[in-house]
Amino acid sequence: MAKHNSLSDYASRRFRFAGNALLQYHDPFFAQIDRLRADFEAKGTHFVSFANYDYLGLANHPKILEEADRELHRLGVGALASRLVGGERSTHKPFEAEIAEFLGMEAALTLVSGYLANVTTISWLLGKRDALFIDELAHNSIVAGCEASPAEVIKFRHNDFEHLDHLLAKKRQDFRHVLIVVEGIYSMDGDTADLPRLVELKDRHDAWLMVDEAHSLGVLGETGRGLAELQGVDPGRLDLVVGTMSKTLASCGGFVCAKKPVIDWFRYTLPGFVYSVGLSPVILASARTALRLMQEESWRVGKLARNAELFRDYAHANGLSTGPAIGRGVVPILFQDSVETMWASQHLLGLGFYVPPIVQIGVPKDQPRLRFFLSANHSEDEIRAVLDALRDLPPVAAEAHELVKKAMA
Ligand code: PMP
Repeated sequence: MAKHNSLSDYASRRFRFAGNALLQYHDPFFAQIDRLRADFEAKGTHFVSFANYDYLGLANHPKILEEADRELHRLGVGALASRLVGGERSTHKPFEAEIAEFLGMEAALTLVSGYLANVTTISWLLGKRDALFIDELAHNSIVAGCEASPAEVIKFRHNDFEHLDHLLAKKRQDFRHVLIVVEGIYSMDGDTADLPRLVELKDRHDAWLMVDEAHSLGVLGETGRGLAELQGVDPGRLDLVVGTMSKTLASCGGFVCAKKPVIDWFRYTLPGFVYSVGLSPVILASARTALRLMQEESWRVGKLARNAELFRDYAHANGLSTGPAIGRGVVPILFQDSVETMWASQHLLGLGFYVPPIVQIGVPKDQPRLRFFLSANHSEDEIRAVLDALRDLPPVAAEAHELVKKAMA
């Protein structure tokens, strides 16, 4: 008889990774941040999260809460079906028109998450005789889309456009259609792609270009219109822009923008849209209000930029490494090993700063980090205080290393 092989045992084996031994001391993941905030406030101290995406500090804006509440009572929470066959709310298309216009694109289509927007668009767009050229540090949702695509997937070195040029020159003729996929801000490193160069490459090699602006909407460019605005590229030159409402727009849901014929086609055929529910009217009202507020309260984009630059510069002054980050919404602090990173996160939490460690998942094993999401709501004092705490980090307790060694044995 076959040896019993339980799914739970299999899961436990696969779950083991070096850092999880430190969870015996303290688990930095899945923290109940509302409760933590309340606990710190009850003690008369401050709790500051650097782990949340609220780039422009809109998450608790009274106008967003008011509009969400109004929509909740007008239309309820659920969209209750795929829009194609269940009908849509009067707010779906106006939001899509507004986000497309804001980004300088012709049309947009919303999906229930940014992750889904990438997976479904990338996996569905191309066929067998086509190719996807993606940055080696592309977000998991881009990679997952590639894995599900019949097209050949070719990775180029991170932000190395000489390499991309070389690969295109060598391989372009083997394929019918080619899509290059990059990100506006890379979510683990906080750096950007060179869009003018990419537009030149796409023209020369007859390729299409998709930019994931998940972390750059509201963050890059003087008015937060993303990488194209920052680098002075006409958004009309981009074939596809993907984004999310979960970050700057302080809500959730994703979108894909393109020329009108592309979006018309997607509206009737894109699997992640056709076979999934429409966005909740409450979510739409929140995101739509956030998009309006970004423009009305335009000082927020500048405030975030000043905060992020202060963070990067002060980190350097404190002898900390921020890698290639340009100093906008995402800035990592790099560490030598996973245990030290877990330790630092635990230490910061004790002081009221929530910054979970990024170890093993999402980054190479030898490049652990604390990833900071900056917000227009952070104060300069908070930024200096958290970086001072990191500069003065106590040495990792010997038992921590022992625990990890034991767990890995
Ligand atoms: N693209 C990138 C670059 C991301 O970092 C993320 C999530 N962090 C997504 C897409 C997915 O967005 P969402 O969380 O809204 O599903």
